[in-house]
Amino acid sequence: MNNSNNLISKTAYLKFEQCKKAFYFYKKHPYLRDKISIDKQLTFKRGHEVGDLAQSIFPGGIDVSKNSKNSIEALHLTQTLISNKTPVIYEATFSFNSALIMVDILCLEDGEYKAYEVKSSFKISEVYLKDACLQYYVLKNILVNFNDLFLVTLNQDYVFQDELNLKQLFKKRSVKTESEKNLEYFDLQINNAKFILSQNIIPNITIGKHCFKPYQCDYFGNCWKDATNEDSIFNLPLINKEKLMEWYNCNIKTISQINENEEGLKSNISKIKNAFLSNNAIIEKKEITDFLSTIKFPVTAMDMEIWGPAIPKLNGTKPFEQIPYLVSFFNGESHSSVFMEYNDDERKEFAEKLINYTKHYNSILVFDGTLEKLIINNLIKHYNDLKSDLETLKNKLVDVFDVFLNFNYYHPDFKTNFSLKIISTKLLNDINYSKITSGLEAMNYYEQYRTEKNDVLKQLIKEDLISYCETDTLATFKLVDFLSGIVK
Ligand code: SF4
Repeated sequence: MNNSNNLISKTAYLKFEQCKKAFYFYKKHPYLRDKISIDKQLTFKRGHEVGDLAQSIFPGGIDVSKNSKNSIEALHLTQTLISNKTPVIYEATFSFNSALIMVDILCLEDGEYKAYEVKSSFKISEVYLKDACLQYYVLKNILVNFNDLFLVTLNQDYVFQDELNLKQLFKKRSVKTESEKNLEYFDLQINNAKFILSQNIIPNITIGKHCFKPYQCDYFGNCWKDATNEDSIFNLPLINKEKLMEWYNCNIKTISQINENEEGLKSNISKIKNAFLSNNAIIEKKEITDFLSTIKFPVTAMDMEIWGPAIPKLNGTKPFEQIPYLVSFFNGESHSSVFMEYNDDERKEFAEKLINYTKHYNSILVFDGTLEKLIINNLIKHYNDLKSDLETLKNKLVDVFDVFLNFNYYHPDFKTNFSLKIISTKLLNDINYSKITSGLEAMNYYEQYRTEKNDVLKQLIKEDLISYCETDTLATFKLVDFLSGIVK
């Protein structure tokens, strides 16, 4: 058996595919890793939940990860379970040529082994395929009677009715064809990865587009710290990564060095450059005035929060279906909110309350209303009798984001981040966000709310969620006040 330090896990291998330096850091300098964002942690959590549920399709398996303390123990236990012809094994652990894999579900069917890798998504991305092919490579070389490996994904056409039908919720696809073609490739790649580790030298790789593809690298903070000073070109909005890297590689690293007249650049770049050099905002008074004139009084700001469980829980809903559970309003004087419990499908009630509240206003301010429009369109699809009222509501939406997106107002402090949180906290004095920092986090809180048994804690979660949503409406409303103030 291998020493576990020399083993190359699936995660390590996928880093190797992205960047040899990231792989080296992962194996030798893990402390350099950036803090994992809450959104990323929540995505992992969702993946585990879907993986656990998929195990129920093949019940009664023995979970190697729960019965071993480290990878060496997991490898030994798996061997024992294989020798005993255990019909279903979860997290079966194998190693070949130093590659270490843990198979979500391994089944012995008619004397042959079939492996299943579960993903909490609809589509099979290139990374998922590589991950599955690596597992196939190891299994093909180490497991006698291995037959095939399947990627198991969620079925986007599945509609929940009364109880979960696991066979319909998931769908599977063999990766045999791609894997068989790539066996030599993995041999070569794993040998290269082992060679890099044996060198004990940090690979000499500079920053580039690969730092973002397929994911933003976990060592971004370490490698990019010198490239992201206040006057760095990477703070510029509107310029794509290819162009920025081209400049960077030509030693154009600060905003003052760029030629704003260079062919192919957007016309706004000159203004943006000046804004950075003078540390003053771009203010297009005429355009802002035109925008403000589209607002009709009485006016309220609105923000919605959605719940999109990977595993549907309400009758008539599909995996990841976006269900609005909270809408908040701020009309300049007071806040109001509609919060749905969803003990059953209460979407129609939500739509009726939404119509009822907004009918008193002639303009509804939103900040990046893409989600709100999507929700309203979905409600229209489901409830034809509410179509006219919902269309009327949609026509009242005024998107404050447009002012910032069109650079009618831009402050260099925004850099490349146009989120409501960043813009409002930079421009307004009295906006304080609660502990919830993103829509995904709010969704997770809502899941906790639904399962929390303690009434006091339940109420606290609800208050946090409403406070988060209300802060967005307050910020949206006050941004309009701010814009009105600067064009007076
Ligand atoms: S930040 Fe970029 S260069 Fe640094 S390890 Fe990650 S991918 Fe490689």
